[in-house]
Amino acid sequence: MPYMQHEKDSLADLYFLKGGGEMGKLIRAADWTSTPLGDPSEWPASLRTAVAIMLDNPFGMYIAWGPEYTQLYNDGYRPILGSTKHPQALGISTRETFSEIWHIIGPMFQGVMDGKAVGFPDFMLPLNRNGFIEECYFDFSYSPIREETGEVGGVLVTVIETTSKKKAEDALRENEVRLRTLADNIPNLVWMANADGYIFWYNKQWYDYTGTTPADMEGWGWQSVHDPAVLQDVLVKWKASIATGEPFEMIFPLKAANGNFCQFLTRVMPIKDGDGKVFQWFGTNTDITRQIETEQQLKESEERFRLMAEGTSILIGLGDESSNAIYFNKAWTDFTGRPMTDLIRYGWTEMVHPDDREQYIAKYLEAFAERKPFSGELQVLNRDGQFRWVLSQNQPRFSPDGSFGGYISTCVDITEQKQDELRKNDFIGMVSHELKTPITSIYGYLQLLHSKASKDGDELTAHIMDKSILQARKMTTMINSYLNIARLESGKIQLSPSNFYLNDLILEMIDEMSAVQSTHVISCAPCGPVLVHADREKIGTVISNLLSNAIKYSPGKSQVEVRCTIEHDTAMVVVRDEGIGIRQEEKEKLFERYYRSDAHNNIPGFGIGLYLSAEIIQRHHGRISVDSEPNKGSVFYFTLPLARDSGTPQE
Ligand code: ADP
Repeated sequence: MPYMQHEKDSLADLYFLKGGGEMGKLIRAADWTSTPLGDPSEWPASLRTAVAIMLDNPFGMYIAWGPEYTQLYNDGYRPILGSTKHPQALGISTRETFSEIWHIIGPMFQGVMDGKAVGFPDFMLPLNRNGFIEECYFDFSYSPIREETGEVGGVLVTVIETTSKKKAEDALRENEVRLRTLADNIPNLVWMANADGYIFWYNKQWYDYTGTTPADMEGWGWQSVHDPAVLQDVLVKWKASIATGEPFEMIFPLKAANGNFCQFLTRVMPIKDGDGKVFQWFGTNTDITRQIETEQQLKESEERFRLMAEGTSILIGLGDESSNAIYFNKAWTDFTGRPMTDLIRYGWTEMVHPDDREQYIAKYLEAFAERKPFSGELQVLNRDGQFRWVLSQNQPRFSPDGSFGGYISTCVDITEQKQDELRKNDFIGMVSHELKTPITSIYGYLQLLHSKASKDGDELTAHIMDKSILQARKMTTMINSYLNIARLESGKIQLSPSNFYLNDLILEMIDEMSAVQSTHVISCAPCGPVLVHADREKIGTVISNLLSNAIKYSPGKSQVEVRCTIEHDTAMVVVRDEGIGIRQEEKEKLFERYYRSDAHNNIPGFGIGLYLSAEIIQRHHGRISVDSEPNKGSVFYFTLPLARDSGTPQE
């Protein structure tokens, strides 16, 4: 019969079950007549009181009553039983409910029945409360409940589960072990202190480096490995940190096992709890002796560089990896009359002569993209407002790790040399010019004599005259070349462009060349009319140069072939020979002034023909180049822009 319907139900309204939460209702609803505990109104007063206290209590409580340890418990105890044991546990024997741990708690219960109370903190019990065995931890106490007779009638259990607290503590301990293992395996010296600054742990490296033992270091023992000269400062800083909870950083020496001192960067960090209160300190000491030495060396080498750079008359500048100017030496500020800050802010491009600016910047950007050295001649404005010629040489800078750090540039004033050169050019120009008139007369007289001898039938004289005319012509060509170069370099050369047919000019030059030589066969691949807008005479000089070289640098009887083609809006002239050719690495240099290949020393020449040709072609905005291989012949070619109306060939 359920307890609710019990006739004594009204009695005292079951005063001891008032309140009692869920468990109280359950106890009331249970059929207690069928349990060994029988009718509650007949329970001993001590049991009733205990049950009443238990049901009202927010903490987990449990009563095991009688020889079978019949169980009653409150709401706070339910989580300990889990879904596996509650609610079946109510009113049945503890032995049955806790069979998996009875061998542990049985003897304790027996002890309580014998009058002995027990209690344990963080006691582990392997409980099955959710369908599997788990390790659970409890703070608990077992106390006897005595009947009026003084006999112990049952056991009162109060319990707080500490499993999660215990697990958190274990995790913390594991973490600490992990941290220490880690700290033992890094090169830094590491230590930990309590909130009050008492160092309770050092890593292995600390002991290895200092050659001390944990006993030496106990408490404030670390002071023994400090330099007495700075110890006071260290203590002041450390104590200030302890007082304020602020981290600190300091560089000071620490004594090594061998008695030497090395410099250490020390960092001390507070470790704070959830409320922001410092509960520990974490310190690292990093050996920075090497770093300090390197910095020192760097400083010294920088100082040496500065001394050198400031003391020289060479203009020295530094740019960074993004091509910003970062340094100009004293020579620069003297030269320009501007302070370094101005030079850095406005850069150097403004000071370059407009004639040289575009070309030099293009050269710089091209080299910069490839991080290559480059050099060039340019005119730079000085403090007196005059442009001076400088030779600028630029080297890329690389850090030890290989990364590009910008350029170091040096410039020397070459104005004097330039002027010398100009004077020399003027002189050559003048001489060439003066030679031109007499040679033209000689040429005329020779031709006169030639025709007279021919008329007189004097074949020997006519033949000698022929040879003399050839030599005079060669001389004229040479003098013209020198004259052209002199004019070119003093900027006096003027192009006189006109529209003309390039194919006609080519044939003309071939005819002229064929007239003075008979060793080689010059052929011209047929091509349609090619109208260009250029200086006819100068382009003629270029073709003539290429033809005479093709003949000069190839064996007799070999072929020289000339072609002329059109591609898009440019015409291209190609001169191919079957001669001795030229090495790959010399190709670019051929077009430099006075350059002659060592391999061709036995062939006379001055090294100005190609230089002049290149200058002429460049002034026409064309390109000149060569493909060649030693002993396989050479192919020289140049391009010229077509005349605007070249699309309508005329006859
Ligand atoms: P020069 O012929 O008077 O020495 P150039 O300026 O015309 O001067 O030529 C420069 C150099 O280029 C020559 O000395 C020669 O070494 C090389 N060169 C020019 N044309 C040819 C060619 N067709 N085949 C091989 N080498 C050549």
